[in-house]
Amino acid sequence: PEAITVQELANRMAEKGADLVKALFNMGMMVTVNQSIDADTAELLVEEFGHNLQRVSESDVDIDASVDVDPEETLQSRPPVVTIMGHVDHGKTSLLDALRGTDVVKGEAGGITQHIGAYQITTKDKQKLTFLDTPGHAAFTQMRARGANVTDIVVLVVAADDGIMPQTIEAIHHTKAAGVPMIVAITKSDKPEANPQKIRERLLEHEVIVEDMSGDVQDVEVSAKTGAGLDELIEKILLQAELMDLKARYDRDAEATVIEAKLDKGRGPVATVLVTRGTLKRGDTFVVGTESGRVRALVDDKGKQVKDAGPSVPVEVLGLGGVPQAGDVLTVVENEQRAREVAEYRQQQATAKRTATVAPNLEAMFAGLK
Ligand code: GDP
Ligand code: MG
Repeated sequence: PEAITVQELANRMAEKGADLVKALFNMGMMVTVNQSIDADTAELLVEEFGHNLQRVSESDVDIDASVDVDPEETLQSRPPVVTIMGHVDHGKTSLLDALRGTDVVKGEAGGITQHIGAYQITTKDKQKLTFLDTPGHAAFTQMRARGANVTDIVVLVVAADDGIMPQTIEAIHHTKAAGVPMIVAITKSDKPEANPQKIRERLLEHEVIVEDMSGDVQDVEVSAKTGAGLDELIEKILLQAELMDLKARYDRDAEATVIEAKLDKGRGPVATVLVTRGTLKRGDTFVVGTESGRVRALVDDKGKQVKDAGPSVPVEVLGLGGVPQAGDVLTVVENEQRAREVAEYRQQQATAKRTATVAPNLEAMFAGLK
């Protein structure tokens, strides 16, 4: 079969050669960057690194197609994915609820809003925005730690009647570290004791300079109670999204990130995922983390069954072999055999990782015995 050197494959995938060598080592193969690997191994590697590839024939890997970038001409704009962060009791949940209330597309008549960890709203002008309904820095950092950067924009909530609190500062640090643009929402602006100007000034101390203070961070006064400022906040998010030119390819096998997952008594393992590219369809075969499965049903944020879900759409997936973890990547593959292969490989890798972290501890133990 056709072979390719590790370095060449790394170059084509825009990854570090050393990282490929490490991945191969975890697969039980001792190779250097200059050595060649066969097409099967290359394919596993490519998929493991989250890239996509096409095989020209059984033995050939069409390496050029393995580059993880969808061609520019296949991209179309996608809704922004927004995370709300801020200090406890500053109004994150209230704001998420109020924003959900502005959705012009109503759910099933009399339907109970289903909390699936994320929701999408449609504005009067038919523009869409996705909100991650997992306020809290833990979720954000946990996802980021696992390499899942699904958030495009952070809305930093600061209560107008309070001030910059420890978790406000933490949120600022997380957002800056992630390189995600921020919009400041000064909440509870309806309160008589609200002092939004004080908030703007105090933010300066943390190098968040809002427009009003001649900076470039957008800010807006809102009230979840009266609804004041909500439209303006949505406008600002959409403006920020436009600047970022957020795009994805719609017509390809889907990739999605797990937002949350659980074992449901009646329905089995269920995961809420956010599609990052492509379109996830009922009947698709997939791997998610180390589990494989087949999409039995897709349920949207309004509790309605849907046939498919495109980029930036949050959706509940039924038909998983097990419960994945938040941050796991769901990848649609061509058939069940392939799904099992990839799942098995990812399992081996997870085991190798565990072994690698145990070994030094054992060494330390023995060192202590000497
Ligand atoms: P979280 O901890 O950040 O999710 O904050 P919550 O949304 O739970 O809000 C904390 C408290 O502030 C609750 O008692 C809310 O009713 C209240 N609250 C939140 N937003 C507003 C607002 O815009 N105006 C007023 N007056 N109260 C608010
Ligand atoms: Mg809350």
